Amino acid sequence: MPSTTSVTGAPVEVLDWQSAVEVLNQDYKRDGLDVKSLLDSDKRGGLTYNDFLILPGYIGFSAHEVTLDSKITKKISLKLPLVSSPMDTVTETDMAIFMALLGGLGIIHHNCSAEEQAEMVRKVKKYENGFILDPVVMSPTHTVGDVRKVKEENGFAGIPVTEDGKLYSKLVGIVTMRDIQFHNDNSTPLAEVMTTDLITAPEGITLAAANNLLRSSKKGKLPVIDASGNLTALLSRSDLMKNLHFPLASKLPDSKQLLCGAAIGTREDDKARLHKLVEAGLDVVIMDSSQGNSLYQIGMLKWIKATFPDLQVIAGNVVTREQAANLIAAGADGLRIGMGSGSACITQEVMAVGRPQATAVYSICEFARRFGVPCIADGGVQNVGHIVKAIALGASTVMMGGLLAGTTESPGKYFLSPDGKLVKAYRGMGSIDAMESQKSSDNAATGRYFSEGDKVRVAQGVSGSVLDRGSVTKFVPYLQAGLQHSLQDIGVQSIEELQKGVEEGSVRFEVRTVSAQAEGNVHGLHEFNKKLYA
Ligand code: IMP
Repeated sequence: MPSTTSVTGAPVEVLDWQSAVEVLNQDYKRDGLDVKSLLDSDKRGGLTYNDFLILPGYIGFSAHEVTLDSKITKKISLKLPLVSSPMDTVTETDMAIFMALLGGLGIIHHNCSAEEQAEMVRKVKKYENGFILDPVVMSPTHTVGDVRKVKEENGFAGIPVTEDGKLYSKLVGIVTMRDIQFHNDNSTPLAEVMTTDLITAPEGITLAAANNLLRSSKKGKLPVIDASGNLTALLSRSDLMKNLHFPLASKLPDSKQLLCGAAIGTREDDKARLHKLVEAGLDVVIMDSSQGNSLYQIGMLKWIKATFPDLQVIAGNVVTREQAANLIAAGADGLRIGMGSGSACITQEVMAVGRPQATAVYSICEFARRFGVPCIADGGVQNVGHIVKAIALGASTVMMGGLLAGTTESPGKYFLSPDGKLVKAYRGMGSIDAMESQKSSDNAATGRYFSEGDKVRVAQGVSGSVLDRGSVTKFVPYLQAGLQHSLQDIGVQSIEELQKGVEEGSVRFEVRTVSAQAEGNVHGLHEFNKKLYA
C-alpha cells in the first residue's frame, strides 16, 4: 500500500484514486449548507441575495438544453420566468408587448386613468408580431410640412392617408419621402403629392403572406385594409428586415394573443377600473400594495374571484408566512414577495418595516408551495445571479423594475445625465414625484403609498435615473442565456429540477462573508470595462 507523510511526519495511507467518489460518500458530509440551514434566521438574521452563493454541481448537458418554464399563477405558465414591474417608468404598452414576445410578462402600471390603462392592455392583446396596429395616419389636408415633421421626430416617413386622417377610415393614398423629396413648399396639401396607385393587403392576411407581398411589391410600406377599404394596420419593410422570431412568446394555449397583466389598487373605484381592463382582454391582475395583508385587499380579492372567476389574481406584497396565509386562504392565484428591497425604495428606512429579500422569498415560497400558489420575487434584482438565487429559494418568477427601466421599451425618452451618460428616468411609485403626478382621483397607483385623506405624503421611494441598457430584445435574451448557463453550472436542467434539488438538499449553498463578496467582484484592476453581453 503506498503511503505518504502527514505534516506531523506520521505515515498516511494513499488511497486508490479510483475510489475517490466512494470515499467522499462514506467519509464526508456534503459540502456547503442545505437551504434550511442557510436561511436559519435565528442564527444569521435575514439574508439578501448578496449574502450567499450556490455551490456548483455536475454538468452533463449543454446550456441551451436548460429549460426555464415556470408558473406565474396557479393556471398560467411562462417560458421565461421574468416579469416587468407595474411602475410608470417601466411598463406600458411596448414593454408589455416585448416582455410577452420574449417569453415573460409585463404588468401595466395604474398611475393613469382607467381608460388609458385599458387602452394599453387592448394594444397588447391586439398586437400581432410584424403588424403596426397604431400607425401614424394623415388626411389629404395635412401638408408636406407635417410629413417632414414626423420624419424629423420619429425617423420614418411612409404615412398612409385616409379620408379623415384616422385609422379605420377609408384609405385614399400613401405619402413617402420620395413623394415630397423635391417639393419645397411645405404648405402643399398631401392630396396633391400622395401616391394613389396603392398595393394593399386584406385584413386577416398572415404575416408570412404579407411579407411576401411587401417583398414582391418593392414598396417600403404595405397598408392592410378591411372589406370596405378602411385602413386597419400597416406593415413596414424596415421592420421586416429586423423582424425577429419569438418562439417563447407568452400566450394562452389555443390563443394567438399575447398574455397581458395589469395592476390595480384596492379602492372602490378600482372595481370599475378592473371591469374596463377585463373588457380589454386582461389575463392577470395584480393587486398593487406595499403591504398586502389588509382588510381592503382580502375584500377586493374575494370580490374579484366572485366577479371574474376566470381572471388570475396575484396578491401582495408580502414578506412573512403570516401575511401570505391570509391571502392564500382568500383565494390568491399567486403572491408577490418583497417589502423594501426595490432599488428606488426607502420603505425600510422610513417605516422600519420590511424584510431582507432572500429570507422573505424562501420563507413564503416554502409555505405557498404547499398550496400550489406560485410566487413572484419582486425587487432588488440587479443581475442574473440574483434571479437565479430568487428561483433557487423557491420563487417561480422574478419581477424587475430598475433593471428594465433603462431599456428602449420602457416609457419616456433618454436624456444626458450631468456627467454625460445616456439615461432614462426611473422612480419609485411611492416617491413624491410619482405621488404628485396623480392628476385625478381616477389615477390611483400612488394609492399604494398614501390614502386620500392624508395631509402629509410620506415618501417611500426616490426618483432618479438609470443607465441606458439598449432594447429588451437584446437584454432579456442575455438574462435568459445567463440563467441557462447558471443552471448548467449548478447541474440542473430546469427550474423544477433546481427547486427539487434545493428541497432535497442536493443543491447546496454557502454563506458569503463581506470579504468573500469583495473577492467575488472585480478587484485589483487599475481600470476595466464591464460589458455584460455581446
Ligand atoms: P427594483 O427591480 O429593485 O427596481 O424594484 C422594483 C420594485 O420596487 C417594484 O416592483 C415594487 O415592488 C417596488 N417599488 C416600486 N416603487 C416603490 C417605492 O416607491 N417604494 C418602495 N418600493 C417600491
